[in-house]
Amino acid sequence: MDEDDTEIGRLLAGTGVSPGAAYGPAYPVVGNIPEPDGDSRHDGDAGAERDRAERALEQVAADLEARGVQAGGEAQEVLGAQAMMARDPGLADEVAALIDQGVTAPRAVFDAFKKYRDLLAAAGGYLGERVSDLDDIRDRTIAVLTGLPMPGVPTTAAEPYVLVARDLAPADTALLTRDVVAAFVTEQGGPTSHTAILARSLGVPAVVGCAGATAIPPGTPVLVDGASGDVRLSPSDQEIAGARDADQARRAVLSATTGPGATADGHAVPLLANIGGPRDLDAALAAGAEGVGLYRTEFLFLDRETAPSAEEQEQAYRAVFEAFPGGRVVVRTLDAGADKPLAFLPPPEEEPNPALGERGVRLFRRYPDIMAAQLGALARAVAGTSAKAEVMAPMVATVDEAAWFAEACRTAGLSSAGIMIEVPSAALRAADLIGAVDFFSIGTNDLTQYALAADRQVSAVSELQDPWQPAVLDLIALAASAATAAGKGCGVCGEAAADPVLACVLVGLGVTSLSMASPALPWVRAALGRHTLDQCRTAAAAARSATSAGAAKAAAWAELPGLGALAL
Ligand code: PEP
Ligand code: MG
Repeated sequence: MDEDDTEIGRLLAGTGVSPGAAYGPAYPVVGNIPEPDGDSRHDGDAGAERDRAERALEQVAADLEARGVQAGGEAQEVLGAQAMMARDPGLADEVAALIDQGVTAPRAVFDAFKKYRDLLAAAGGYLGERVSDLDDIRDRTIAVLTGLPMPGVPTTAAEPYVLVARDLAPADTALLTRDVVAAFVTEQGGPTSHTAILARSLGVPAVVGCAGATAIPPGTPVLVDGASGDVRLSPSDQEIAGARDADQARRAVLSATTGPGATADGHAVPLLANIGGPRDLDAALAAGAEGVGLYRTEFLFLDRETAPSAEEQEQAYRAVFEAFPGGRVVVRTLDAGADKPLAFLPPPEEEPNPALGERGVRLFRRYPDIMAAQLGALARAVAGTSAKAEVMAPMVATVDEAAWFAEACRTAGLSSAGIMIEVPSAALRAADLIGAVDFFSIGTNDLTQYALAADRQVSAVSELQDPWQPAVLDLIALAASAATAAGKGCGVCGEAAADPVLACVLVGLGVTSLSMASPALPWVRAALGRHTLDQCRTAAAAARSATSAGAAKAAAWAELPGLGALAL
């Protein structure tokens, strides 16, 4: 950053978590719309004020409806129901009556919605949960009336925008595609946050932990470098062209390595894709994934009042199995709780530390029927396809949990049952756990969070959320060597596998397959293909003998000479 840049505030810096360069207008996600002034009165023309309110409600309804049509499926139903609420005649009458008493349109909308909101909240249950939908319509209508930017994340755009937010939840972004979002910039979050995961799975550049991002004025042209973490405001034409050229040169190097994953001396390392559902399959196939190493099934359950039906689950799972004839498809059972809250499966009590609460496999012990239904749907879905289904549970901590899950898989007729290694206790006692299951898959995002006691959602501790931490490398080595000794596989499906340098180290630690968001596959394929297994082992040993994450990375780099060509 040079001095000029800081002086005029043109350059913000964060952590690059999804490589590539992108340029577009900033679209800051707006939080709550402020409550309109309670004392303000309109100028006496009630008719004009009523028209204004009516038009604003209709504009909001039409916009919600259009977004629904574009998204299709479940989202269309949800948005269509919201549009109907905005067109509710009772609500319109209430707004008109308040305006006739002299209240301004924004305040009338606020008060009329309040009445409905209180009624729904008092009703509780399903109706109570509609309060946030109502608040969204209210805020959108007030935004139209007052000229404030529209709250929420737009899912259509004339030109792809740079989404700027404090942080993003999976549900905020479920409808986004690359045609709409050029890049993500968030003020919070670390390399394993859901913003980072989503960006990598969409293949768009992302910068997280970027202080000052939410102050970027809407519409400001922004150049985002998802590798260095630089966010340049109002860049010159020369800067834009330079960033694009550098990006293209890197991509040319990548496309030179193709085929199944292997080291330079032919040690095979299957390269698999992390997916959230059938909609990610095209990207996985296009990037040459040899199978799926992590199917995060909870995306099918997000934003739902009830679990998806057995048929709906079966259909989604079958689409994935059919995409990889003869290939491996590793499915993770529903991972609810903590950073992936599901409306229909709340933890039974308020938890002060949700990441340490009833999440993942622990929730299944409370709701075994939901797990049995999912395992049943998976068994039916794979029947008649040639895919090799491997099913694994998240957040397993003990041998008992591993054995309980494996037994449930067998009962459902699933032949390969594994567990994720995400909890340090599971890595430390991997030699015991491997006896209960068929394979391991290391979730380095959670493993790092728990090993370093650093919440993956809190950017203030993002330095600790680094899988290069030697303690994390030691835990990975323990799990991989226990699996090797038992003659079983040990993959990595956390974000560490998507880091081309760390991927070489993981292979050197004894990991047998790597699974990542599809856009990372070419990078990892190229890095592995430029080094022998021995070089990877030497790099792993060097990294493990370091005493900090930075030193571990530097030590590994020094042993991996082929990385230079990738200009990482
Ligand atoms: C992990 O924790 O590394 C992982 C792959 O699971 P998730 O990121 O979905 O928690
Ligand atoms: Mg996890």
